Amino acid sequence: MAEKRDYYEVLGVSRDASADEIKKAYRTLGKKYHPDANPGDKTAEEKFKEVGEAYAVLSDPDKRRQYDQFGHQAFENGGMGGGGFDFNGMDFTDLFGDLFGGMFGGGARRNPTGPQKGANLRARIRITFDEAMKGVDKELEITLKEECENCHGTGAKPGTSATTCSKCGGKGQVAYTQQTLFGMTRSIQACPDCRGTGKIIKDKCPNCYGSGYISRRKKIQVSVPAGIDDGQSIRISGKGEPGENGGPRGDLYVEVSVSDHPIFQRDGMDIYSTAPMSFATATLGGEIRITTIDGDVIYDVKPGTQTETRIRLKGKGVPSVRDKNVRGDHYVTLIVQVPTKLNSEQKELLKKFDEAMGGNAGPEEGKKKRFFK
Ligand SMILES: [Zn+2]
Ligand SMILES: [Zn+2]
Repeated sequence: MAEKRDYYEVLGVSRDASADEIKKAYRTLGKKYHPDANPGDKTAEEKFKEVGEAYAVLSDPDKRRQYDQFGHQAFENGGMGGGGFDFNGMDFTDLFGDLFGGMFGGGARRNPTGPQKGANLRARIRITFDEAMKGVDKELEITLKEECENCHGTGAKPGTSATTCSKCGGKGQVAYTQQTLFGMTRSIQACPDCRGTGKIIKDKCPNCYGSGYISRRKKIQVSVPAGIDDGQSIRISGKGEPGENGGPRGDLYVEVSVSDHPIFQRDGMDIYSTAPMSFATATLGGEIRITTIDGDVIYDVKPGTQTETRIRLKGKGVPSVRDKNVRGDHYVTLIVQVPTKLNSEQKELLKKFDEAMGGNAGPEEGKKKRFFK
């Protein structure tokens, strides 16, 4: 990874800049480098991310304090500031959404021939419980539309080119005026001749039938972070449908299904399971073996432990998706095993023991009985 620039330098503000100054710098730069304003420009996209990251830290008083103290290290895994902060998992477009939504993504007012981001795609993968605990790299096959190499995405037969639509003059939209009871109404609609593209292709490319795209099966690598829960999605940027008029591709959202585990149940970041202990161990105390997601651990049962006692194995639970060193706990319910198959000698011993204990009446009654005998 390239050396990170100083966040103050990125926003072009001094180290003692006020919250207002930081916000102002972010608005100006964010607007300048926003993907909708720079379609397909990789450098602008990088800058946009850099600006978003710098703002995410410097606009939060806590994070800014940590950054001032420890620099970039504060937000790296195992950094001195603790509590890692994963920028890769953040959607910076969303971060800007509230600021720029009205300006670029303005729905109805959007220019139909302007750059538009492609639609998002969805896919699903299934992983095992253990894979969800440790993290795993998976390969996924999806159908992706790619630029047609015959016409280079224009949709026009090589040697020919698309012409400007005469109905809308290339604007992609047409205005209709209608006489109604209430007077004249004017509405703007996508041009029916060019379907909003502003262009007419007379000789279609025979390879893609004029669409400019060819669908292909593609293998996508999905890096599933440790700690992911059933039903959560991973966003893979730029692997969605192609954008229009030079807009960026949409994203791919991979929903993760996690299979059940035969002995572990998960609730948030905690794991629940049961473990057997013999009647003698429960009574006298002793070591039992407990299976955790890290392997077996030895647990020291206290004398006189009742059945269904729940113990906590701290830090043996699910790792956090953001920082795998942060983990939940593992709760184990200890169950006393009642023997079902005893030979005559064992039965005799148990009867003697029961008599000494006073049977179902308990040890106190037992003492009295022996006394009166
Ligand atoms: Zn083509
Ligand atoms: Zn048209």
